[in-house]
Amino acid sequence: MEPDLRGLTRAEIAAALVSLGEKPGNAGAVFMAVHRRGAADLRQLPNVPARVGLALARAFTLAPLAVPERKLAAKDGTRKMLFRFPGDALAECVVLPGKDQQTACLSSQSGCACGCAFCATGALGLKRSLTPAEMIAQFEACLREAVDLRSLVFMGMGEPFLNWENVEKTIRILSDSRGRHFPQVKMTVSTVGVIPVIEELTASDLRVRLAVSVIAADPELRARLAPMEKVYPLRRVLAAVRQYCAARRAHVMLEYILLPGVNDRPSDSAGLAELIEGIPCRLNLIPYNPPGGPGPAAPRIKEFQRELIAAGVRAYLRTEKGADIAAACGQLAARAAD
Ligand code: SF4
Repeated sequence: MEPDLRGLTRAEIAAALVSLGEKPGNAGAVFMAVHRRGAADLRQLPNVPARVGLALARAFTLAPLAVPERKLAAKDGTRKMLFRFPGDALAECVVLPGKDQQTACLSSQSGCACGCAFCATGALGLKRSLTPAEMIAQFEACLREAVDLRSLVFMGMGEPFLNWENVEKTIRILSDSRGRHFPQVKMTVSTVGVIPVIEELTASDLRVRLAVSVIAADPELRARLAPMEKVYPLRRVLAAVRQYCAARRAHVMLEYILLPGVNDRPSDSAGLAELIEGIPCRLNLIPYNPPGGPGPAAPRIKEFQRELIAAGVRAYLRTEKGADIAAACGQLAARAAD
């Protein structure tokens, strides 16, 4: 089957036009027809010469954008959507409410191979990585649900840095001025710590923000909670993060999911403060959102925050969103896959 033109960046469309004997200058109009004007047929692209559309139709398809199979709305305004992509690949996206604007949280993979112990997606295993068109479908669905969508995070199902080629293309497509023109600086990519891609991002021209899941400062505990620790130990991940911050004069977001009785001891906050010392960062403390619905709030979360602040860390509490609709990553797909 021919590739879907929707998953190509503008530069790739220009290269494809050259290989089809057409002028690359038409790439902008083609891109705009697909991503802004909602074209459904390559042979009828608005403002594109018919000859160019016919040439593209011989080499590419333009599949309709997928629509969600299920939609759920939480009391707090969180909206969650479940997609079933080809091959029974389930993936979720979420619209998270802010004060007067919203954030879209997209999945980069159906399931995840990383196997983090606290994560519903990890328990599913990896079904497959998602294509740019499938991530764009999630974005468009969020855009329709939101009133004022201002930011975008790749923090849904999957490890974005294990599907980086497609995530990078999605970022370039969504931020293109001929398409949705969504600012890269309003996009955040979250990783459990895939060092080679952190280094690649450091050297790239992308302006997206980086978030890293810390999980635990103690290497043994972290390896039990996040097996990726055995491949890319946190100390080395944070060394790559320090280089990223220095090279780009950027801050990084550090995410710490608080698991009561597991990684919320005073020794954990002390170890964490020591480990991240000197990194220009904002640390978000996230209460664990258990699969069975709202559980007891992390009892030590405020104390943990105080301990970190006293140690000089900019630590913030992230409020739990959409607990009544299983909004944490992978929870809805896990139920749908049962
Ligand atoms: S926390 Fe992220 S990296 Fe870990 S299993 Fe879940 S989706 Fe994968």
